[in-house]
Amino acid sequence: MSEFRELYQEVILDHGKNPRNFREALAGEHTAFGHNPLCGDKLEVHVEMNNGVIENVAFNGEGCAISTASASMMTQTLKGKTLEEAETMFRSFHNLITGNGDTETELGGLGKLAVFSGVREFPVRVKCATLAWHTFKAALDRSEEPASTE
Ligand code: ZN
Repeated sequence: MSEFRELYQEVILDHGKNPRNFREALAGEHTAFGHNPLCGDKLEVHVEMNNGVIENVAFNGEGCAISTASASMMTQTLKGKTLEEAETMFRSFHNLITGNGDTETELGGLGKLAVFSGVREFPVRVKCATLAWHTFKAALDRSEEPASTE
């Protein structure tokens, strides 16, 4: 097993078991529900904005280790970012785990999220890893429609 693979599994297990920013929505937060029918992952993402900056982001729900770990790390990463930065990260993250784009460049902007490049080896897990991000966007749009990976 490569070192990178070990790191990938370690991080996913850690965040999957002990998700960060895992809680119910607070009053005044935008919230959205996301569902990945392929795996059965169900998440709610809560976002509080302040002058175009993501003041708080949290989530709760039930899902596999990858969807939970991805949501947990997303909340840590997005806090304090602008919407524009969040969009860019989502694009990079998506490119990274689907194997599109320039991987070196994508890795540079993603920090700890880079461990998710391991998902590329498991295409069926891409939807698990992106569910939180789709749901985050839905929360921002205050969409009434549940976010779906389909
Ligand atoms: Zn899943």
